[in-house]
Amino acid sequence: MDSREFRRHLHRHPELSFEEHQTQRFILASLEAEGIEARKIAGTGVLAKIEGRRGGHRRAVVLRADIDALPIRELNEVEYRSENEGVMHACGHDMHAAMLFGVLRELNRERDFEGTLFGIFQPGEELNPGGASLVLEENPFDGYSVAAVIGQHVDARLEVGQVGICPGVFMASNDELRIYVSGRGGHAARRTEVDDTVTAMADMVVRTTRLNSPDGVVSIGKVVADGATNVIPDNVYAEGTMRTFDAGERERIHSLLRSNAREVAESYGVEVRVDISRGYPTVINDVMLSYEAMIVAADEGIEVSEMSRQTTAEDFGYYTERYPSLFYRLGVGRDAGGSHTALFLPDETAITVGERMMRRMALHILNK
Ligand SMILES: [Zn+2]
Ligand SMILES: [Zn+2]
Repeated sequence: MDSREFRRHLHRHPELSFEEHQTQRFILASLEAEGIEARKIAGTGVLAKIEGRRGGHRRAVVLRADIDALPIRELNEVEYRSENEGVMHACGHDMHAAMLFGVLRELNRERDFEGTLFGIFQPGEELNPGGASLVLEENPFDGYSVAAVIGQHVDARLEVGQVGICPGVFMASNDELRIYVSGRGGHAARRTEVDDTVTAMADMVVRTTRLNSPDGVVSIGKVVADGATNVIPDNVYAEGTMRTFDAGERERIHSLLRSNAREVAESYGVEVRVDISRGYPTVINDVMLSYEAMIVAADEGIEVSEMSRQTTAEDFGYYTERYPSLFYRLGVGRDAGGSHTALFLPDETAITVGERMMRRMALHILNK
């Protein structure tokens, strides 16, 4: 099976985060057909392993692809459209998995390298706590010296034939915020007898969004105060997201959210609770690896566009916390449309570009 067929199979049979059972079976069978050693990891993921014929097997390079799809009903009219109604590979993870498969297949045939090459087909990128954290909890690389973890993500802002690389801090950490205000509601005309939970929440929301800065995003996307023209509700709820590029800034915003909650509670005589559900850590690219990737790309005739940091998040951040890592973007053309939409359709000709890039990076580091 070639990479394009592999991708189309996954596209036809998408599965949600941490439910990638068929996907896992398909990947295991495809690797087995190629004679590549593989086993299950992180529940519904797959870990493949190839030892180079030049020895030195304790030194390793890890290539990573994610494999989960999204709860979106596909609207593309392609022959390989999703057959799992309401679920769609709308983030290109089918492309990532296919390219990883293609690279492993080729390198397994040659094995002309030193060290060990791992391939992670990782589940659950789109959902907390993120499959990457589960992979690493199993410590699959204990006893190895990991020289690099490399991942790529399709990007419609770049044309086919281009990769986007950002040395250093690349993608934000993301935390989910939930704010609960509660008090004694009642008749909105008798203000002295009620706690103004709605205004207290409004104050919380304004204070929260004031915490925005160039280094941190804080947004509230939902506020529920289900009273009426003449009813102040007992409970008001709000939720939102926060993104930061720096661990210190992340903690600073967390503590400001909590102190704001205390102040608002006191001044309105209500209870204010802030729940912060920690999401993925910042994706920080190893600077040396980033520049090496630029050289490798140029060598391969792949155009490099230097990217700036992004406020979106990726569970790849967990790998970057532990090992020297590189996460870059692969152009799939503007016509691909927006990711996470029902019409996202990356250009498949990008597959060979992504494979060349990943394969050359792996060999470059392994044979160094
Ligand atoms: Zn996504
Ligand atoms: Zn994605």
